[in-house]
Amino acid sequence: MNAVNSSKEEQTQGHVLIVGSLNMDLVGRAPRLPKPGETLSGTTFATIAGGKGGNQAVAAARLGAKVAMIGATGADSYGDILRAGLAAEGIDGSGVATVANVATGVAMIIVDDASQNAILIIPGANGTVTPAAISQHEALIRAADVVVCQLEVPHDTVFAALQSARRLGKVTVLNPAPVSAPLPVAWLAEADYLIPNEIEAATLSGIPVDSPQDACIAAQRLRAMGARNVLITLGSRGLVSLTGEDTVHYPGTPVKAVDTTAAGDTFAGGFAAALARGATVHDAILLGQRAAAISVTRAGAQPSIPYLHEVESQA
Ligand code: ADP
Repeated sequence: MNAVNSSKEEQTQGHVLIVGSLNMDLVGRAPRLPKPGETLSGTTFATIAGGKGGNQAVAAARLGAKVAMIGATGADSYGDILRAGLAAEGIDGSGVATVANVATGVAMIIVDDASQNAILIIPGANGTVTPAAISQHEALIRAADVVVCQLEVPHDTVFAALQSARRLGKVTVLNPAPVSAPLPVAWLAEADYLIPNEIEAATLSGIPVDSPQDACIAAQRLRAMGARNVLITLGSRGLVSLTGEDTVHYPGTPVKAVDTTAAGDTFAGGFAAALARGATVHDAILLGQRAAAISVTRAGAQPSIPYLHEVESQA
């Protein structure tokens, strides 16, 4: 019975490959953010697995995909914890290198009582993921249905991954985050789906995005610049898609938001998982949105990402 169930499940699971970052988030809470030179007593501290790559890998796995990852950690205790975390989610970490003499990526986060934060990211081992890693792990690309990248590993590596995946006939997804300047035109064309949030869409398109209407204009602009399909996420206002001729606004799912960390990563991972198992773009968007809406009702990044059965039970 179990064997029958698991083989049936495997048939319906798509394969997602994530090329991206793994960070340990060091989260301290304090009444307010310290001033330069000031020593301030905080209240609580937690270490939480993060990094956009890691978050999206966990999201895709919990939302129904078989997931592999290409990335890197240092040869240190945070790296051990992050790699064990991927394994616990059933994620194939054979493409995650352990690099000597460099620290695992960390994000040092201070959150104050007004929910303002200050974040210092030190990429560490994430900066060692070179295009050579993409050639080395071509078998992981071949095994994937959908390949997902963000911009927290070196950009030439992301470009190599997208190019290689498209050449091999895979569906490519680029979540262009973080981004501080427009991307080269050649890049846009290597992503089948470009998924920026409103700030990233504004940076890439040069069009300020403050409303769904603005997002429609920005999406058309990105298409004119060479992007294929564009999904601009708009927080509680949902998302604007441009996958055919026309833009479509998908309103957000109304929820009581507690912590929006990793909403975008949950959307990207869920969207990729659904596409990989053959869902239509429309259904993949709906799944990603429902999953992201659940994630904002819970605290934390990876701990907030729901499982497929939770999303299905609310549909
Ligand atoms: P990012 O985390 O990258 O900034 P967004 O904040 O745009 O991404 O969120 C991604 C998706 O998560 C949105 O398109 C939406 O579907 C969902 N989402 C985010 N915030 C909320 C919210 N407050 N209520 C409902 N859905 C939300």
